[in-house]
Amino acid sequence: MGGTFDPVHHGHLVTAEEVRDYFDMQEVVFVPSARPPHKTGQRITSTHHRYLMAVLSTISNPYFTVSTVEIDRKGPSYSIDTVRHFRTQWGEDTEIYFITGADAVSQISTWNNFRELLSMCTFIAATRPGFKFSGIEEEVERNVQTMEVSALAISSSEIRRRVRRGETIKYLLPEAVESYIYKNGLYREPE
Ligand code: ATP
Ligand code: MG
Repeated sequence: MGGTFDPVHHGHLVTAEEVRDYFDMQEVVFVPSARPPHKTGQRITSTHHRYLMAVLSTISNPYFTVSTVEIDRKGPSYSIDTVRHFRTQWGEDTEIYFITGADAVSQISTWNNFRELLSMCTFIAATRPGFKFSGIEEEVERNVQTMEVSALAISSSEIRRRVRRGETIKYLLPEAVESYIYKNGLYREPE
């Protein structure tokens, strides 16, 4: 599961866990994106903080791990490079799923080498109950499985906004991540 995770929240975690359980996966690897190509010009918290928040949030789930593969790599963080990395590491017999939110999948035809990417792994697009894809290319739709997960209207941008305004973020994300945000003074400045 890739993402900026700025910060990681219960929307990410519930999605990952429900998908893992449904598809009986051995492991879910959270891959914080170092330099997301589609978020240039936006201020993003350092990889150091985002990585540590991801580790804190996954500590109680034995199936969840966090990878530094995109942080350790130079240049823009292309998912295709990451999937190639795991394909090499795990070998041809391992089934690889790419977990994303449906919002991300509707942009997929803008991703680097998206055709090859779609052919290398099974895409799982987490949707909220009642969600319908619109304007998505037929080729993409054919290669993506959708799965309804519990509706959680949580986003990192909303959490950042709340911190900036001094509003509560309790229960939107793990307690340890909340403490980490305050302890390090994250998200206080305007974006
Ligand atoms: P931002 O608001 O900054 O865009 P975000 O909450 O969307 O952040 P990302 O790090 O951009 O978080 O998302 C990582 C992945 O998790 C993406 O595939 C995204 O679609 C998915 N995702 C984000 N929020 C949710 C949610 N509440 N439920 C299910 N999937 C989500
Ligand atoms: Mg997003």
